[in-house]
Amino acid sequence: MDLSRRAFLKAGTVGGSIALGLDVSEARAEMRDLKIARTTETRSTCPYCAVSCGVILHTLGDRAKNVTGSVVHVEGDPDHPINRGTLCPKGMAIKEDISHPGRLTAPRVRKPGSDTWEEISWDDAIARIARHVKDTRDRCFVEKNAKGQVVNRNPGMGMIGGCTDTNEFNFLQWKASVAFGVTYRDTQARV
Ligand code: SF4
Repeated sequence: MDLSRRAFLKAGTVGGSIALGLDVSEARAEMRDLKIARTTETRSTCPYCAVSCGVILHTLGDRAKNVTGSVVHVEGDPDHPINRGTLCPKGMAIKEDISHPGRLTAPRVRKPGSDTWEEISWDDAIARIARHVKDTRDRCFVEKNAKGQVVNRNPGMGMIGGCTDTNEFNFLQWKASVAFGVTYRDTQARV
């Protein structure tokens, strides 16, 4: 075979094997199969935007007690009616969101006057949030407007729903925010 230097270098890559007349599509398909051969498939929803594309998470681990599974591959769900298997670049990067060593796995607080974030327990976080909600409502609650009409509103707080919240969660969230007098409510679908 008469090869130029350029053709030879191109042929050195897998894609370049086509230049030598080799069909690598089967090898590629097999490589992909091997990658997910022993994984468990879990269907989920991309958390990033209101499109809510369906994803399949491939997890290694036998689901035995005390075994932490690791997500090794994420792809669009071809059976999902919204995205039919496609994902945008953000959705394709979900694996990093799950397994990146810098991912936060516990709540943190930056106390007044401090310049550092401290890790706190979930119980502590819930107690602090409840305290802030109560104090803010007490401080900001408006019972009547300038005309003396009863409005019972709390302009000091807002509420926004996420795209992966269930209808049941949103129902409860709506009820709670109404009880707090929150009038600034929105959904991620508009963001
Ligand atoms: S894959 Fe992209 S378009 Fe689909 S929900 Fe995620 S961020 Fe939105």
